[in-house]
Amino acid sequence: MKPTPFDYTAPTTVPEAIALLADDSREAKVLAGGQSLIPMLNMRLARPEVLVDVTRIPELGRLAVDGSGALHIGAAVRQARAASDPAVQEGWPLLAAAIGHIGHPQIRSRGTVCGSLAHHDPAAELPTAALALDASVVIAGPRGTRTVAAEDFFIATFSTACAADELVTEVVLPPLAPGHGWAFEELTRRHGDFATVGTAVLLERDTASHTVRTARVVFCGAGPVPVRLPAVEAALVGSDAGERAVTAAARAALEHLAPSDDIHAGAVYRREGAAHLLVRACTTAWERCS
Ligand SMILES: Cc1cc2nc3c(=O)[nH]c(=O)nc-3n(C[C@H](O)[C@H](O)[C@H](O)COP(=O)(O)OP(=O)(O)OC[C@H]3O[C@@H](n4cnc5c(N)ncnc54)[C@H](O)[C@@H]3O)c2cc1C
Repeated sequence: MKPTPFDYTAPTTVPEAIALLADDSREAKVLAGGQSLIPMLNMRLARPEVLVDVTRIPELGRLAVDGSGALHIGAAVRQARAASDPAVQEGWPLLAAAIGHIGHPQIRSRGTVCGSLAHHDPAAELPTAALALDASVVIAGPRGTRTVAAEDFFIATFSTACAADELVTEVVLPPLAPGHGWAFEELTRRHGDFATVGTAVLLERDTASHTVRTARVVFCGAGPVPVRLPAVEAALVGSDAGERAVTAAARAALEHLAPSDDIHAGAVYRREGAAHLLVRACTTAWERCS
């Protein structure tokens, strides 16, 4: 199918973009990499009257580590650029690995990191990675600018804290202290598909006791938002991340995950798959703790 007719605009400043989004006289939608929006237009699942291309706004192309060590990824930064950035690979390898699971190179070379967060497909890798990495999302709009923690940003399937007249300007990832290990694992039907189910695991090793000091475990494809399970994390914290602890974590995942059935997979398959992935991810993350 073909999209309904729309106007294309390419503002060069954030205030200009917000003015276009806040104009009540016609429905506007942010265009970033277009990798989800354009198919939606073609299928007429979205019918905006004007597209606001934010990738021509120079300040949104920022990919930098600030003085406090936090990573800033602007709304125009493509997924491929973020994944290949040396600072990202060195400081936030979990993010780079998660991006590597998205579709194919052609998708990642156009799609943006912030676009994936704003779109919020519950099977997508980046919302889960963002929650595991304790990210914050910066949103600008006619009422000003605010920063929303990842755990409050994802509200429901394809729904976030960013309103229709607002723009995600950047995502900010705090630095990881030494001693962290990570893993991102997912189950897909075919290479490049969205995750049937997946998990991001971040473990911190206590160097004195050689036990897990902190754990962040998040699942995608397991609910309408990225799912963080305190029971799974509690099974790991204080342990040596050995077989007994990891098995207990997997048992907690089986007990607490409540995915739904859909045309791609049944709930039981997803839950069992998540538990298996978790075992592998915990083992890998612990091996990577330095
Ligand atoms: C064949 C194919 C395979 C794919 N496989 C995967 C996969 O395995 N995993 C995965 O996670 N994704 C996958 N994708 C989707 C891809 O990751 C998209 O790039 C991503 O979902 C959206 O990013 P985008 O920059 O392309 O956003 P767009 O498509 O431009 O926008 C998506 C939505 O988000 C809104 N939006 C975008 N940026 C902002 C912003 N800064 N502020 C406010 N709203 C904004 C838009 O208005 C739109 O509603 C696939 C896409 C294709 C075509």
